[in-house]
Amino acid sequence: MIKNIDKKIRGYALKNAIHYNGKANSGAVLSALFNEGLEKKDVKGVILEIQRVIGEISKLSLDKQKEEYEKIRDVLSERESREGLPELPNCEKGVVMRFRPAPSGPLHLGHVISNVYNSIYAEKYKGKFYVIIDDTDPETAIKEAYTEIKKGCDWVFGNVTEYMNASDRLEIYYKYAKKLLLNGRAYVCTCSSEKFKEIAKEKKECPCRKNSIDENIEHWNKMLVKKNGFKEGEAVLRFKTPEEEGGMENPNPAMRDFPLARINESPHPIQKKKYRVWPLMNLSVTVDDIELKMTHVIRGKDHKDNAKRQEMIYKVLGIGKKFPWTFFIGRIKFTDIELSKRKIVEAIKQGKYSGWDDSKLATLSSLKKRGYNPDAFKNFAEERGLTEVDKVISQKDFFQAIEKFNKI
Ligand SMILES: [Zn+2]
Repeated sequence: MIKNIDKKIRGYALKNAIHYNGKANSGAVLSALFNEGLEKKDVKGVILEIQRVIGEISKLSLDKQKEEYEKIRDVLSERESREGLPELPNCEKGVVMRFRPAPSGPLHLGHVISNVYNSIYAEKYKGKFYVIIDDTDPETAIKEAYTEIKKGCDWVFGNVTEYMNASDRLEIYYKYAKKLLLNGRAYVCTCSSEKFKEIAKEKKECPCRKNSIDENIEHWNKMLVKKNGFKEGEAVLRFKTPEEEGGMENPNPAMRDFPLARINESPHPIQKKKYRVWPLMNLSVTVDDIELKMTHVIRGKDHKDNAKRQEMIYKVLGIGKKFPWTFFIGRIKFTDIELSKRKIVEAIKQGKYSGWDDSKLATLSSLKKRGYNPDAFKNFAEERGLTEVDKVISQKDFFQAIEKFNKI
């Protein structure tokens, strides 16, 4: 349970009441308590108390509310009243940051909230800010998304140094993949994915792990070439999880010899049928971070495992270079906005929305059409600060907060 919970409930209820003409909202108080570390299982226990306190406070005049708030505001988390963002470490030699959207649907609010920090910091330190369209999954890449991403990022960030398509960089990824094979740090695995999962679960090595470098190069070539080569699903390139990371005994099964590239012959919206071997995100991200000399990465907490995998690959491929300083920003969880690209695309197909810029959606094109000032999102992020704490918020409360900045 949170320290000083009773005072905090009262403090946040007062704060919210003052902001909304004397009437506090229990959802807003709850959301503030989540930011203080309240756990879901404890909600039941505090909700009645919140309602009771709100009832009490609503009987006070606005002046009385303000008076009492001043007395107890110190118990509220420092972050609530902090302004601006902290300085980044290690930025003496310049700052290079990135955002890697997948072109599988429209960019939406969720992307902006967790990635706007990269844009803000790149601007602050006069560094570079790359947008790399992560289009190495030919099955999910949608042609329409490419121009939408560029339009959306130009509007909301306004400081993109360069746009790139990962699919234009396949030869670079292949070069690094081959390097891993030649150094014995990766291998071509011909086990079925079910079989590999079973072996990995038991912390054992699959038979392909012992193949010689020559055999691996031969198999890699059989992945790249269709004629007499492997078919889809018959072979994947796997990273050899290093001994110092526990190899196949790494405590996290997701870290054991994870895949780096696979065959997929579906036509790609840009590259058409030019390639059949596609890198997975962890390989392409790591290679780009090395090649583009990425210095700092701020990303969603849901990418923690991927960042760990990327760090392992980076240590092998980026010798003499420094893995980017990484911060995992807490998620904003909306209670009532659909933020799955796949589901949005699906719903548009079914005619539930008129298009990517339907005013009921929280996509970038819709927000732009609705007249939001992109700086409002930056100001919101600055006020929120660089935090690992998740925030639960309703659409109404969020847009009320944005409106406050929209007028500035
Ligand atoms: Zn295998």
